[in-house]
Amino acid sequence: MRQSRMFIPTMRETPQDAESLSHRLMLKAGMIKQMASGIYTYLPITKLVLNNIEQIVREEMNAVGGVEIHMPVLHPKELWQESGRWDAYGRELMRIQDRHDRDFALGPTHEEMITALLRDELKSYKKLPLTLFQIQTKFRDELRPRFGLLRGREFIMKDAYSFHSNEASLDETYKDMYNAYSNIFSRVELNYRAVEADSGAIGGSHTHEFMALADIGEDTVVYTDGSNYAANIEKAACPVPEPVETNSSKEIEKVETPGVATCAVLAEHLDITVEETTKTMIMRIGNDYAMILLRGDHELNDIKVKSYFKTDDVDFATDEEIRNLLNATPGSLGPVHTELPVYLDHQVRNMQDYPTGANESGYHFVNVNHERDYEVVDYDDFRFITEGEMAQDDSGPVKFMKGIEVGQVFKLGTKYSESMNLNVLDENGRSVPVLMGCYGVGVSRTLSAIIESHNDDRGIIWPKAVTPFDIHIITANPKDDEGVKIAEDLYESLGKRYRVLYDDRKERAGVKFADSDLIGLPYRVVIGRGAKEGKVEVKARRSEESMDLSIDDVLQYLEVNY
Ligand code: ATP
Ligand code: MG
Repeated sequence: MRQSRMFIPTMRETPQDAESLSHRLMLKAGMIKQMASGIYTYLPITKLVLNNIEQIVREEMNAVGGVEIHMPVLHPKELWQESGRWDAYGRELMRIQDRHDRDFALGPTHEEMITALLRDELKSYKKLPLTLFQIQTKFRDELRPRFGLLRGREFIMKDAYSFHSNEASLDETYKDMYNAYSNIFSRVELNYRAVEADSGAIGGSHTHEFMALADIGEDTVVYTDGSNYAANIEKAACPVPEPVETNSSKEIEKVETPGVATCAVLAEHLDITVEETTKTMIMRIGNDYAMILLRGDHELNDIKVKSYFKTDDVDFATDEEIRNLLNATPGSLGPVHTELPVYLDHQVRNMQDYPTGANESGYHFVNVNHERDYEVVDYDDFRFITEGEMAQDDSGPVKFMKGIEVGQVFKLGTKYSESMNLNVLDENGRSVPVLMGCYGVGVSRTLSAIIESHNDDRGIIWPKAVTPFDIHIITANPKDDEGVKIAEDLYESLGKRYRVLYDDRKERAGVKFADSDLIGLPYRVVIGRGAKEGKVEVKARRSEESMDLSIDDVLQYLEVNY
């Protein structure tokens, strides 16, 4: 492709409003143009790379028996009402009306669509298992679209759905998909981990997220060096200490704590460590409220709370709710003398003689002991693990890394087949709900994640598997007719073997080199001063290794080295 005919509007300046490296590089390299918040036009370079990623995804889906389809973007409201998600999905669901005032959603995901398709077509278990997939634009009205294609409001996803008549079959496809995803992310050269993730309030299901490791990642991956244990911090289980008998003889006592609103200040005031304090969280769970006590230095994990109480409808009680419940303010809350059910994090279980708020501004109790001074409904894991604690599989202390979720595999079970009546007749002629799995790859997000980990201070360095072109031919001096002739010949001969971008523009050499570094093709061939002696420069983008070769040797050199 001649660059004069391409559309690659590179930028010299560094865009100020782009918060992530990949976003900056994509803007500078002329790959995307923002049309509205989180909504982009994919320019030619981006489109070529997306095509390559999609091709890899297709191959891996086909290899595990996936069959490609294409479903509508417009989803009738009725289907989403059947699943209960018209309301439950909230404001992230984009909604529109047609000329007859009928409501539609712009599909953020396609469980409803595909379940409706299959329930009309599928009658017998004999047609199972079945795996269908599509690569398509999805719409989510994200609260904070950002980082370019990493979190868009309109983005490309590969979504696959599998259907089964028994658990063993679902397990098998899940494993196949897990492996296919591993292949996909290895092939596009992402440094990734498959991590155990939370399956939401429904529980019981099984899910892994594929995380590309990158500092900009919004997820925290918990892992150890001692094994292949890795989990999303939302899910990573905290160690549970052996319960020990606590038997305190100290009297509970109310003390003045003027102006004390945090555990750190409380610890200072009482001359103890933060680890020796507790914090009391009031949670709204549906229409009820509960108290959860944690050690002062720990953080509540609302995902674990949701999964414990088996509902998504969980939130921190507001200041007003707390005032109504306890006639107290945050900072002075505690479990003594309250009607609320009290739950303890495992880590509080072995504490004794600790301070808690007195539900009265400026006062705390000290020497508090659970079971003695207040009742406990249950002990569980309600917090985030911290770095250095023992991993769930005892393989050593956990470490943290940041990750970008590029894919997820999920056993849905019968969630949609039950709510939407997708049944088949089993071997005994009984009607049973179909088991389902769903599997997503963020195709456009994957592109950004690749750039996050393949770049240097001059631009992008494309992995060969996804690069938009293989070779960049550049004429350093477009006025040098002899050089241009050599370039044209190389463009023709190399073009038979490789995908070549030929910079034939009437630009200064400096501009061309800077653009070439930005665009980041694996090899570049420069026709410069050496052309008179029949020499050109061949340079590898990643290793920066460069060679002066005679024109006749270029093809052979590339064949050996590319
Ligand atoms: P996130 O937690 O990042 O919002 P998600 O868990 O809601 O993502 P899924 O429903 O699992 O996303 O969608 C499958 C894949 O689609 C994700 O793994 C991710 O790679 C991609 N994806 C999701 N939301 C976006 C988005 N707003 N922009 C780009 N890609 C996205
Ligand atoms: Mg996900």
